[in-house]
Amino acid sequence: MNKEWSEKNKKMQSLISKEATFKEGIEVLLELRGELFSQIAYIVNTYPEEAFYLMPFAGADGYHSKTLAYSMWHIFRIEDIVAHTLISDDKQVLFAGEWQKKTGSPMVTTGNELKGDEIAEFSKKLDVKVLLDYCKAVMDSTDELLRGLTYADLKRKFTEEDKNRIIDSQSVSTDEDAIWLVDYWCEKDIRGLMKMPFSRHWIMHIEAMCRICNKLCQNARKGTDPIARCGLSCNHCFLKAWCGGCRTAYNTCSDAMNHPGKVCPNTACCLEKQIDGCYECDELAECRRGFYEYDDVNAIKAMAMFTRKYGKKELLKTMDKLHEEHDFEKIQEVLGNDLDEGFRILENTRG
Ligand code: SF4
Ligand code: SF4
Repeated sequence: MNKEWSEKNKKMQSLISKEATFKEGIEVLLELRGELFSQIAYIVNTYPEEAFYLMPFAGADGYHSKTLAYSMWHIFRIEDIVAHTLISDDKQVLFAGEWQKKTGSPMVTTGNELKGDEIAEFSKKLDVKVLLDYCKAVMDSTDELLRGLTYADLKRKFTEEDKNRIIDSQSVSTDEDAIWLVDYWCEKDIRGLMKMPFSRHWIMHIEAMCRICNKLCQNARKGTDPIARCGLSCNHCFLKAWCGGCRTAYNTCSDAMNHPGKVCPNTACCLEKQIDGCYECDELAECRRGFYEYDDVNAIKAMAMFTRKYGKKELLKTMDKLHEEHDFEKIQEVLGNDLDEGFRILENTRG
């Protein structure tokens, strides 16, 4: 489990267990939920449409066997049902905001009943950007509920009437893979629900989403030219778990993300000049466009100059060697900021 999330979750559990620190515990929970939600928003704003319905771990045992879109739907449908139908006995956010229609979902249930390809098919139907808005609306509404809780509320239990209300809402499928949820929630008190689903349930599914993203990036990288147009080796980039390489739809390079169409200035310029990369350009040494605008990343230009002289294969081999000889994340930690010196280090490493 992600160490920071897990530590914060433990801290929250310990704080809410004492009346004197209960409110502080709620604040920690809200902070944790905010961080987890940022992770989801990052994923939605970064990865291509297909990433949300692909199942790179299909058939595996665990939350990562689902899709990104399903995970989002499932986390927040469960939360919506528990917060509104079970605890507050009022209208779910889904119905109050007509989110089923807006998201394009063919169903209102939690999705536990879906199997195999049904998960991918369901995911394809969802408008993920709108789904993120629904998730945010549910989170905000639950956060308000959490802020209003008192220490005495923690022991509140649920009745047969509460249970029937969930069944009557038809928000949980009667399929055997789903209906158990009703008993599961109703056997808990509010304190138990703060864990599942309001905190731990998020952590488990969001960690699974991260695993899915990492795998999709790994898959995208296969068979793709790993040398970026600016000269960087995507195979050796510190971001590689989260990026499929900058010549793929899974490019998460900040320079690309911050430009229209997610096309960085170096790529745009290369495409205009109809060249494969900056290493084929006569203006390379003096160029200050895109990635070359920053003084502290001359190391990337040194890699481009090295590629121009020795070729891509040599750069990859030399980068492997550099990583064997040094422990580093960002290439500038080894090549430094001076262009000539960086180039010399690469040449010396090549031998
Ligand atoms: S700056 Fe452009 S070419 Fe270089 S790694 Fe980023 S997206 Fe790729
Ligand atoms: S002008 Fe600069 S950004 Fe454009 S191709 Fe040449 S080196 Fe790359």
